Amino acid sequence: MNASSTKPWNGATESRDPGRSLEPPDGASTPRVAFAAAARSATGLRPDNQDSGLTAATLLAVADGVGGHVGGATASALAVRSLADARSEADGDPRILVGQLAAEANGRLSDICAELPVLSGMATTLTAVALSGDGRLGIAHIGDSRAYLLRGVQLVSLTYDHSVVQSLVDAGSLTAEQARSHPWRAVLLAALHGREDDLAAVEITAFRALPGDRLLLCSDGLWGVLPRQSIRRCLVVAGDVKSAADGLLDAALAAPAPDNVTVVVADVTEQGAAVAPAVVGAAAGSDRPPGGDRS
Ligand code: CA
Repeated sequence: MNASSTKPWNGATESRDPGRSLEPPDGASTPRVAFAAAARSATGLRPDNQDSGLTAATLLAVADGVGGHVGGATASALAVRSLADARSEADGDPRILVGQLAAEANGRLSDICAELPVLSGMATTLTAVALSGDGRLGIAHIGDSRAYLLRGVQLVSLTYDHSVVQSLVDAGSLTAEQARSHPWRAVLLAALHGREDDLAAVEITAFRALPGDRLLLCSDGLWGVLPRQSIRRCLVVAGDVKSAADGLLDAALAAPAPDNVTVVVADVTEQGAAVAPAVVGAAAGSDRPPGGDRS
């Protein structure tokens, strides 16, 4: 697993060098923090939901399963349930924690594929964010789900798509806008399949969060239909995380969304009451008609 990423920031973004702006001012102390979070997942125009999402006081995740009807939903649900079951180590190094969680999720995929070979070939993206009590964030990322940070009115991408079209954007063969509608846009270069070598492609990044920061994790069903400025606007104008998640999901479904859509919105807040983990999408066992899953 990479200790650090060579490409931690999304190429199709407003900023590829946000690191300095993500650090608190010199000498500033960071209060104890936790997430206030909301998640929504919907089938879009598809008959079933192969996405999963997780919110908890110090952990967020989105996973987008691939590999057919059963395999895709199973893969994302296994990964997200694995994270939901994990014991939180609020004062540990969040980079180490998210790396361990990604490895455990991949191990669950490996176990189930050994038990049920019919599921071999299933895979899932995973974007997971862990928060330590002192405000350090660790991100584990593989695939083309995304994490964004809204600080003030600036939206920064925290992840880099492991996809064919992103590599074409990097090579200058496609613009970011062309990539969003390219026929290969769903072809991934890396995902969790339950294979040991998958972990080498998991990118681990870290930064310092501040109270008031707003995070968005989402599957490609959101960013594939909503322009970046629409995503930013939704996050800026929404009062609370539930309104932000509702607004993003409603905007994607109105597009309309041809794919499953999962959004997790979290505010970094000065620590409040403990929040039990909650899951949405395939991990919640929801598999309902188009637009009907508003878990
Ligand atoms: Ca998808």
